[in-house]
Amino acid sequence: MAEVMAEVMDGELKPCPKCGGTDCGLIALHEVNGPDWYQITCRTCGTNSEWKQSIDEAVTDWNRRAE
Ligand SMILES: [Zn+2]
Repeated sequence: MAEVMAEVMDGELKPCPKCGGTDCGLIALHEVNGPDWYQITCRTCGTNSEWKQSIDEAVTDWNRRAE
């Protein structure tokens, strides 16, 4: 299992729902014989979205928290 940082398009993510920070990014988790998982994380305070099986779902979950 390897964890890599990927980038989300600028402007796609809302600011962190907890601290308002904009240094937020995508974490992608690739399992060898399983699904890929994606999560949005705030690099300032460590708040995370739920783990989702697509980038779109992770972004949607994050943005819903930020509303
Ligand atoms: Zn934050």
